[in-house]
Amino acid sequence: MADKETPVLVTGVSRGIGSAIAEKLLADGWRVIGTYNRNQPESDFAGHSRFEPVQADFSDPVQVEQKLKPLIQSQMPEVLVNNAGISENCDVEDSDEAWLELWDRTQQINLRAAALLAKWHIPIWKDRKKGRLINIASRAAYRGDTADFAAYAASKAGMVAFGKSLLRNYGKYGIEVYAIAPGFIKTDMAKDAAEIHGEEYITSDIPMGYLPEPDQVGETAAFLAEGKAPQLSGSTIHLNGGSYMI
Ligand code: NAP
Repeated sequence: MADKETPVLVTGVSRGIGSAIAEKLLADGWRVIGTYNRNQPESDFAGHSRFEPVQADFSDPVQVEQKLKPLIQSQMPEVLVNNAGISENCDVEDSDEAWLELWDRTQQINLRAAALLAKWHIPIWKDRKKGRLINIASRAAYRGDTADFAAYAASKAGMVAFGKSLLRNYGKYGIEVYAIAPGFIKTDMAKDAAEIHGEEYITSDIPMGYLPEPDQVGETAAFLAEGKAPQLSGSTIHLNGGSYMI
């Protein structure tokens, strides 16, 4: 059973998918600690009495450690939702310097920070004999992406493999691990992709024919956060309207 007096830590709640996840978790009665970087959360939930915002730039490992490690150790969240992420492009034919800069920045924000946050939860969850990790991955982790977004796809595949590895060792302690792999969702990130590749590119291969709102990811994450189907642990929920069926 979920203990809603212990918080859920959700990263990247200022907009898009993270905002939808935080909103649904608060509506379900959870306490939510939500991180953001440049944009203060402005949704209706920003003033909610059970919501605590925390600013941290995940591109800076020092900020991740100084702002989040003590917070995790003192508040001991029951659920971690790794959602914050970037999706930026760089051509493989660009200079090594430019390509590696984007590669490292992407891995730092999408994978290294997310993995460290999970690592810091493990001893807490092990002692408590329960805890849930929900990684917001991507269809790109399974299908791959265009070459200019290869760093993004690699970071998301790394996230999935990291989570599975944790589960193989810590499942016996009641720790559950899930991934949600969305296709394009109607957020700033999809808007940016549409600007680079065109609208047609992001909608043409979705049999269901429309770009979903982020609340569909919010509903899915909130269901997993409840821990009502622990045998789903280790699974990836593919939320992509049939654009990549595996
Ligand atoms: P978004 O609208 O661009 O929002 C990204 C979130 O991550 C924001 O809260 C942002 O905070 C935070 N963030 C970005 N850079 C950060 C940094 N350096 N340090 C800390 N936080 C940072 O993206 P989204 O579409 O909601 O995506 C959320 C997650 O879903 C991502 O992991 C993404 O890869 C995944 N996803 C999205 C789609 C899609 O089509 N939208 C598809 C598959 C997977 P600020 O606002 O403060 O910058």
